[in-house]
Amino acid sequence: MKEGWEAVIGLEIHAQLNTESKIFCGCSTRFGDEPNANTCPVCLGLPGALPVLNRRAVELGARAALALGLRINEESIFARKNYFYPDLPKGYQISQYDRPFSEHGELEIVTATRDAAGHAREWRPMIIRITRMHLEEDAGKNVHEGLPETDRYSYVDLNRAGTPLAEIVTEPDFRTSWEAYDYVNHVRRALQWVGASEADMEKGNLRCEANVSVRRAGEEKFGTKVELKNLNSVRFMQKAIEYEIERHIELIESGGRVTQETRLWDDRANETRVMRSKEEAHDYRYFPEPDLPPLVVTAAFIEEVTAQMPELPEARRRRFMEEYGLSFDDASQFTAERGLADYYERAARAATNARAAANWIRSELLRELEASGRGAEESPVKAEELGALVRLIDEGKISGKQGKEVLVEMFASGKSAAVIVEEQGLAQVSDAGEIEGIVDEVIAASPKQLEQYRAGKETLFGFFVGQVMKASKGKANPKLVNEVLQERLRKS
Ligand code: ADP
Ligand code: ZN
Ligand code: MG
Repeated sequence: MKEGWEAVIGLEIHAQLNTESKIFCGCSTRFGDEPNANTCPVCLGLPGALPVLNRRAVELGARAALALGLRINEESIFARKNYFYPDLPKGYQISQYDRPFSEHGELEIVTATRDAAGHAREWRPMIIRITRMHLEEDAGKNVHEGLPETDRYSYVDLNRAGTPLAEIVTEPDFRTSWEAYDYVNHVRRALQWVGASEADMEKGNLRCEANVSVRRAGEEKFGTKVELKNLNSVRFMQKAIEYEIERHIELIESGGRVTQETRLWDDRANETRVMRSKEEAHDYRYFPEPDLPPLVVTAAFIEEVTAQMPELPEARRRRFMEEYGLSFDDASQFTAERGLADYYERAARAATNARAAANWIRSELLRELEASGRGAEESPVKAEELGALVRLIDEGKISGKQGKEVLVEMFASGKSAAVIVEEQGLAQVSDAGEIEGIVDEVIAASPKQLEQYRAGKETLFGFFVGQVMKASKGKANPKLVNEVLQERLRKS
């Protein structure tokens, strides 16, 4: 950022809660069905139809709130947010307004300073205040077909209308686009971790909007903000924020003023464009939803939800350090995603050596996964198989160097370590009797060297090691060879 300026950023995230049915009716939330297949009088907004709150949406909302460190209000109120849009047949959306489901969160995230290419330089913790998280229903979708100039048809698909959403709003606590980037990724992973949402931006079940303003360094008053929409990936969001910050600074420095407006990110043009100005802003005329009672969340309900939740990442990180002796860095990396954390634990158990399993995952497996663009859950090498490989090395059946080659082969072929070791004849000879036999043969065949060695030429030890390795075609366990040779060369 330009010297002498500071950016101020606040984020709003909409996450689709992972329920089977909609928030106020029994229609399916399945994606990709025939348009309007999953609709009923409630989600079509027909007169007289009454909404009924889906308990599962509240459970998943509670999971989301707890995973983000928010306080859940004992009583919250649904409210009508009134506006006209073709994909909103009721003419209002059921949302929450002045008494939201949960509020006042302080979330600790980890953020990195990055170089121009976006590579992380240094990580540090940071607290983000979450203003609120409320529950609401999604609208439908307008579908446009044909060419704009000739045959253009627009349709309305209401399959998505009534899908449950959690809207998560932060205080304007971010000062750089990368802090915003790290926060959205943290929220995504937290929601996925507790199973509250698939939180996949590509599928549109996580959407985010960024509010951006700038001010001169040291200034307390916020500048005029611009709202950014149409951010289809976390990276697009980061780029759009960066673009806006520069645009605002240039505008103000050249004597202009920032207009409060909503802008879109156009990734092809690599710029933001005006979508609508504040004059067109809505007055939603919120009022309490008369067809739904206040939502009451008891302490017993929260306890029940908590009991069903998986161990949260921070707790799991601490446990990995205590139980498996992992470093903070390893434990943090393994608990960044639940799939990887589960993978690690299964591998550690199968290996019966938690530290070695961690080393193999960090230095070898993650590289292969990254290169193939897969997550731990999709690894062609199952956790138990990785554990078995670590055991083969620990037990001296193969060397660490061979282990690396075996792992690459396991990854490519999906075969188990044992099968590959067998097929390629890699197994080290660790049988003491067999090695003693080879050592004796080698000594018997080298009487001259034996005499010189015993006369004090100790450098010849390497010669004997070399001969034994050669005779075993490189398969003898080097540690055992050393031991046996020491012993046999000493006595006559
Ligand atoms: P609005 O009334 O326009 O919806 P809100 O006060 O509700 O604005 O804030 C919406 C989002 O914008 C929040 O995430 C908030 O933190 C953020 N925000 C508010 N003011 C600013 C500002 N001056 N610069 C950047 N972000 C802001
Ligand atoms: Zn319905
Ligand atoms: Mg607002």
